[in-house]
Amino acid sequence: MTTDSGAQPMEFGGVDKAERPLGQSIMRGMLNRCPACGSGRLFKAYLKPVDNCAACGEDISHQRADDLPPYLVILVLGHVMVGGFMMTDLVFQVSMWVHLAIWVPLTIIIALLIIQPIKGGVIGLQWALKMHGFGGEPDEARDI
Ligand SMILES: [Zn+2]
Repeated sequence: MTTDSGAQPMEFGGVDKAERPLGQSIMRGMLNRCPACGSGRLFKAYLKPVDNCAACGEDISHQRADDLPPYLVILVLGHVMVGGFMMTDLVFQVSMWVHLAIWVPLTIIIALLIIQPIKGGVIGLQWALKMHGFGGEPDEARDI
């Protein structure tokens, strides 16, 4: 597929790859920065994104990360914590109560620490792929 001018190759959906680099957008989101400019803050509260970027004015208000950030936190943290529990259980012979006293609070603390960067990365992903209205058109228009 080509652009209207026929000079630049396009990926599917008519989106120019160079316009919104995926890795850079995800990384900027994970660092609490606007995926468009990289300088404005992405979150105005713990998990509440800003409506518009203070630096470049990019509209972030229509982003909907939904359940993907908590799903990713559970997926990543579940593997790390269960693996850590099983490895320490092989090395140290302690009771299950000691394991619970260590692993449950650790899991909660780490989950609270990583959910904001993961949500920022998901917003960056959505922005880079022009999902949920980031392409300048409502979702309803794409469903036709
Ligand atoms: Zn910005």
